[in-house]
Amino acid sequence: MHDQFQRQINYLRISVTDRCNLRCIYCMPAGGVKSVSHDEILTIEEITEVVVAGVPLGIRKVRLTGGEPLVRRGILGLVRNLRNIPEIDDIALTTNGILLAKMAGDLKDAGVNRINISLDTLKPTRYHQITRGGNLDQVWRGINAALDNNLQPVKINTVAIRGFNDDELVDLARLTIRQPLHVRFIELMPIGTSDDWAGGRYIPTGEVQELITGALGNLTEEKMVTGNGPAYYGRLPGAQGTVGFISAVSNHFCARCNRLRLTATGQLRPCLFSGRETDIKQALRAGAGREELTRIFREAILNKPDQHDLAARWQEDDRIMSQIGG
Ligand code: SAM
Ligand code: SF4
Repeated sequence: MHDQFQRQINYLRISVTDRCNLRCIYCMPAGGVKSVSHDEILTIEEITEVVVAGVPLGIRKVRLTGGEPLVRRGILGLVRNLRNIPEIDDIALTTNGILLAKMAGDLKDAGVNRINISLDTLKPTRYHQITRGGNLDQVWRGINAALDNNLQPVKINTVAIRGFNDDELVDLARLTIRQPLHVRFIELMPIGTSDDWAGGRYIPTGEVQELITGALGNLTEEKMVTGNGPAYYGRLPGAQGTVGFISAVSNHFCARCNRLRLTATGQLRPCLFSGRETDIKQALRAGAGREELTRIFREAILNKPDQHDLAARWQEDDRIMSQIGG
């Protein structure tokens, strides 16, 4: 269906857990977030019910995220449930890649079509630092397993961070030349990170793009990379993969936004940056029928704001990215 601003909403991003096996500096506090109790989190069956309720309204694509979706028990069962909904034609997953090497084959068999892997640096010590303990080798094994299992297109999400990886952005873009990897540069967003570390580290997309084209040559615009995201993609000369830019802050793409989010605790959230959540868990647990759930889903779509004003202020929100589903 269309929302109040004539945008067609067909994509649901699902946070399957607020937990994570890493503690990225820009995403989580060092001690992790205080996890909500297990029974606050939607069960696999409840998540499936919410997706089913969205189908009559036009939901066709889902992305599983978190927290770290691969630490969620029952994740493969959820993927199988979603694959069995005939109208759902695309199941994607965003992961830090740590557990991907051993799970890629099962994810593919269960029905995942494609994977995004987050990677902000090519240097093991920096990776360990930014993730507060992560092992870069494991991520590379995961990326290779995604390629080997044809979970394509394999996209790499890189947050551009001044004073941390600005000297590596060209090398990260270079990854697309020899392998069919799609590296997307994401602007550091003022959410969950309004602390001393993040201040002044934001790099606008235009600057990243100039750095890359200056070093590696012009980009030829590409429109054909499968996905729902509001990204600009270009191909470096002779490259197998593409380079993408997601400028959520400097040039927001709200007018083309086709998504709704489901938080791990069962709130439908119309925008990453909006607190206007609609509770669907309560109805689920009160035994609401499918029609009633669809009605609540519709309400959430109609609640979608025109646009966010991220550039204007740091987000004052009681949720952080891993809870909403980044
Ligand atoms: N754990 C999975 C992962 O890291 O891919 C999925 C969840 S994570 C919240 C999803 C994405 O959000 C990651 O690519 C991460 O880099 C990004 N992210 C988290 N906090 C961010 C911030 N403050 N600004 C920009 N991107 C952020
Ligand atoms: Fe975990 Fe992903 Fe957040 Fe890093 S970005 S702490 S991997 S949820």
